[in-house]
Amino acid sequence: MWEDSSYCWVVLCKNSWFHLRKQLFNHHRIPLGETDAVTPLPPLDGPFRVRCDECGKEYLYKPSDVRKYEQELPDPFAPHPLFRFGEERRRSRRSFKSVGLVVRAVAGETLLSQENASAISASDHGALIALSAEVQIGQTLYLKNPRNQIEVKGRVVRIEKRGKGLAHVGVEFSEPAPTDFWGDLRPQSNRKTTAERESANRSSTS
Ligand SMILES: [Zn+2]
Repeated sequence: MWEDSSYCWVVLCKNSWFHLRKQLFNHHRIPLGETDAVTPLPPLDGPFRVRCDECGKEYLYKPSDVRKYEQELPDPFAPHPLFRFGEERRRSRRSFKSVGLVVRAVAGETLLSQENASAISASDHGALIALSAEVQIGQTLYLKNPRNQIEVKGRVVRIEKRGKGLAHVGVEFSEPAPTDFWGDLRPQSNRKTTAERESANRSSTS
């Protein structure tokens, strides 16, 4: 349950007779580019063409056809020209694994919960954090980097239950994080073991 989540922008291939033969009931999702749990679809000007990575057919798609889907990108992967913005995010996300944050949930002046949580993925616009506190969509959270005491404000945009009382919570920042917010927390190669992370979580829930 601790694996890094990957998200893609996808469209469903319109050559459905081809794909339905191969995987019954499943339309083929054509990956366009990488995203994360919280970033909204950037504006696209009108319809665009996509060639299917599997059947090779090219069709016209509307921006409203684009969906976010939790899946790994194929490797190698060439993003669609309109979705190349994901590449930089992908690089930055890799350096953000398991960042420790202090997360406060508040309602007005009242502190509802505070815990040490791990950011699973992150960008200037938001973060996906593993949280044990019960939160609601739309709720305000404050995320603090305990090393430089910089705090950012965000709101819950997504909740995925992951068992053992933990949820992966997508937080969208009210405004882009200051450049040094993640700063010195970027771990080199020190991904913690599952046991370390679980004990860190246990000690934070008391
Ligand atoms: Zn296809």
